[in-house]
Amino acid sequence: MTQVAFAPDVFTWPSGEPQLIGARCTACAAVTFPLGPSCPRCGTPGPERHLLPRRGTLWTWTTQDFLPKEPYAGGETPETFRPYGVGLVQLGDEVRVEARLTEADPSRLDFGMELELAIVPFRVDEDGTEVMTYAFGPVGEGEG
Ligand SMILES: [Zn+2]
Repeated sequence: MTQVAFAPDVFTWPSGEPQLIGARCTACAAVTFPLGPSCPRCGTPGPERHLLPRRGTLWTWTTQDFLPKEPYAGGETPETFRPYGVGLVQLGDEVRVEARLTEADPSRLDFGMELELAIVPFRVDEDGTEVMTYAFGPVGEGEG
């Protein structure tokens, strides 16, 4: 099966150890995600590409229990939709990113728990291409 990233320059992939691609401002040194044309904090154009740590800690989260309203790029229907977690993940001292969580069971999530980046299927296009996105899950979940 062909797999493609849902967008270029969001994460390093294919890779056994993917990383999110953030930005570091050349003027104020703010680290932000995703990489954009200018610094969201001070507006200086052309921030440097800056790879973010693979592991972080869970700051807060919620659970998406129903199919998001249109427009929604996922391929689920109300019949195939499965709830997923959405969290704010603190990566080092630098930046906090919003991401899907591979774990949707609130009883298995906790403030400050260590999470690791994973690249997961987001949807399958009509030609069979699997579109991949990033998510955070408990450390070690993808091993073995
Ligand atoms: Zn800046």
